[in-house]
Order: sequence, then structure tokens, then C-alpha cells
Amino acid sequence: MDADVCISGGGPAGVMLGLLLARQGVEVVVVEKHADFFRDFRGDTVHPSTLNLIDALGLRSRFDAIPHDPLPRLDAVINGIRLHAIDLSSLPRPNDFLTLMPQWDLLALLAEAGAEHPSFRLRMGVEAAGVLHERGRVAGIRTTDGEDMRAALTVAADGRDSTVRRALGLTPRSYGVPIDVLWFRLPRPTEPLPDTLLWANENGLLVTIPRPGYLQCGLLIPKSGFARVQADGLEAFRRRITTITPRLAGPVTELASLDDVKLLSVQVDRLEHWWRPGALCIGDAAHAMSPVFGVGINYAIQDAVAAAQRVGPALRDRFARDHAVDRACAAVQRRRELPTAAMQRLQRGVHGAIATGALARVVDNPPTRGQRAALRSILPALLPLAARMIGYGFRPERIR
Ligand SMILES: Cc1cc2nc3c(=O)[nH]c(=O)nc-3n(C[C@H](O)[C@H](O)[C@H](O)COP(=O)(O)OP(=O)(O)OC[C@H]3O[C@@H](n4cnc5c(N)ncnc54)[C@H](O)[C@@H]3O)c2cc1C
Repeated sequence: MDADVCISGGGPAGVMLGLLLARQGVEVVVVEKHADFFRDFRGDTVHPSTLNLIDALGLRSRFDAIPHDPLPRLDAVINGIRLHAIDLSSLPRPNDFLTLMPQWDLLALLAEAGAEHPSFRLRMGVEAAGVLHERGRVAGIRTTDGEDMRAALTVAADGRDSTVRRALGLTPRSYGVPIDVLWFRLPRPTEPLPDTLLWANENGLLVTIPRPGYLQCGLLIPKSGFARVQADGLEAFRRRITTITPRLAGPVTELASLDDVKLLSVQVDRLEHWWRPGALCIGDAAHAMSPVFGVGINYAIQDAVAAAQRVGPALRDRFARDHAVDRACAAVQRRRELPTAAMQRLQRGVHGAIATGALARVVDNPPTRGQRAALRSILPALLPLAARMIGYGFRPERIR
């Protein structure tokens, strides 16, 4: 054996699992195909559930030393009516906010913490090409350079297009998604803007993520609609942004070209079987998450915690290790499948509301009497529930 556990993918799921296993003394190797963590398109929300884990790992002071933007509240502006849609200040302190931290910084922090354990190895620039089989079990990975790495457990944490998952012969069930996202940056408006996540009206829906120094924007478009946007040209794109968010009329003129607008394909899928003898899928490799509610990173990390707590002890079984590892993998799926399915169900509901325009009709401008009464009575009751759902997800994990 080259390691007890070989993990393909150095994203949030893979690096967190590597760290947690190394803390238990498990020999673990994480292979990441890129030479660095620098990637722009994966979101960078760190939710209260992950902040709680950072605290439990004793990494808080190092986390706080990295520049990040704590956001206790985020508004939604629907038809010009500003709603205080997300308010995490009702959650228990100290982690009663979500924060935006570039994902490469978070991954670097976790990797650094992992490297303090002698049994942790992270190999950057190494790509899994397939899996090894021995005695009817998965026995490690083969890299694109032809290197074999043998392990008692192989973990696919290599994202929604997972190579290892494919090599295991596992295919996720795909749920149709009617939307894609166009991803671009704008300068912040000169007049300060309250932290606003979402702008919606009959012209479309725009997400704005306040990052230090600029706004990361995501315009939702119908699936496969990017060719149409490109054909209509830059001026039409700018006009569209301005009609959805008049306050961005100035900043959007600084968008120089549609080449600065990237298409991010939204996908929601889930495996029926998350494991095979000797192998386990976690994170997006087991269930691709939509960006709705920005919970994908946190769900990937929660999978890692659930896996580490079951697989770590199983690896210590001296007499029936293979059997114990497989039982642990099955237990990980049992633990994480339901919270994942529930969140994906909600995400798909929101996709439907976006695609049919129902979201933009939630409130008129000016609101009708019924809407005003509903906003006054229902919204305050819903806010704490929404805060828990977004902040922790369903069935949050704790590090024992
Ligand atoms: C448009 C968009 C916006 C999003 N925004 C947010 C957000 O704001 N907040 C949020 O929480 N979630 C967001 N998500 C979801 C989130 O990106 C994912 O759910 C999350 O990154 C999953 O983590 P992971 O570790 O499972 O996989 P990934 O983050 O995809 O990491 C997989 C890693 O494996 C590596 N890899 C791939 N193949 C191989 C291989 N063969 N060998 C070795 N390494 C390999 C990749 O380079 C990558 O580093 C968004 C998703 C989309 C599509």
C-alpha cells in the first residue's frame, strides 16, 4: 500500500477529508490535477456550518488572518422592492454570518493544516486517470503519468465530471436544470450599495456577490442561451443588466467585451450508489449542486466530515478491514443522501420559479395589500428558518 486512503481531487471535499483523516493518523494522499488552487468559478461562500468546523479544528485565528468579508445579512430586490431576505444574525454566535473568502485561500489553509501531520500528502499537478482493481476490489488509482498508487480506500472527490466515478462505472441521475449562469465582474458602484445578493424583475435575475473591491455578478439565462446573448452583442447585454439593476448602469459600462463574460453550466445530479468495494464518492462527484443558496462547498465539506468519522475508525480494524471500510462507506451514503436530496429538491424548486418567472412575481411594485400583509406576517417567521437552512444545510456534521 502507498497509503491507507487515496483521494482524487483537491477541492473542498478532498482537502478537508485529507486533513481530517491525517489528524487521525491515517496515511492519506490527495492528488489534485491542477498545479495550484487558483480557480475562479466555484463560489467562495463559507457558511456558519463550515465556520463551526474551522473553530473545532482550532484554525480560527489563521482563518481570521486571511482577508474575508463577513455578511450577516443579504437583501433581495424584487421589482424594485428591497427585501431583507437572508438574515443569519438569528443563528447562535459567534458564527452568525456567512463570509466570502476566495476558495484558493480556504483550500490553502486546510492544506497547510494537513501538512502539519506526517501522514498527510498532497500531490499537486497529479491527475487520476483510472482505478486499480485487486481481488474484486478497487485498490487505488492510476495517474495520467502511469503511476499506480495503492490504497485500502479510494475516494472520488474530483468534482461533478469525476474521472474516478466514471472508472468505477457509476453514473449519476441527472435532474434537468433550465438555467445557466453568465459570470462576470463589475466595479462596485461609487454610491455605496447595501449588501444585495439578488435582483429580479421581468427582465431577468442577477446575482451580485460583494467581493473585496468588486462585484462578482451572475446573470441567469435559459439553458444553452449564451449563443443568443453573444449574437445580441455587448450593448444589448449592458442594457439588460441596467434594466434589471439600474444601480449598475455606471459600472456595467466598464465591461469591455463579452469575452469577459464566462458561461457556467449549472448541473444537478446524484448517484444512486455512492460506493463500491474499496471506493467512495463524495462532494460533487456524488451529487453536483446548483449554485442556488451557495451551499455546494459546504455540502462537500460536510460529506468529508461524515466520511472521516466513519472511515477513519474502520481503517483501524485489523481483522476485517475491507469489510469494515465498505460498511463505513455505506454508512456515509446513508448519512448524507437525505440531506443532499432535500437540498437539491429545494434548489430545483427555485430553478422552476426562476424559469417560469414566478420569482419575479413574488411581489409587485407597489406591493398589493395582500402582499404587504404577507411580507409583514410571513417573512419574519420564515427568516430564521431560511437562516438555518442556508447557514447549516440539513443535518449538519460535527467533528467528534
Ligand atoms: C456557477 C456556480 C457557482 C457556484 N457557487 C457556489 C457558491 O457560491 N458557494 C458554494 O458553496 N457552492 C457554489 N457552487 C457549487 C460548488 O462549486 C461545488 O458544489 C463544490 O465546489 C464541490 O466541491 P468538491 O470538492 O466536491 O468538488 P470541486 O470543487 O469541483 O473540486 C474537485 C477538484 O478535483 C480536481 N480534479 C478533477 N479531476 C481530477 C482528476 N482526474 N485527478 C485529480 N484531480 C482532479 C479539480 O481540479 C478540483 O480541484 C457553485 C457551482 C456553480 C456551477
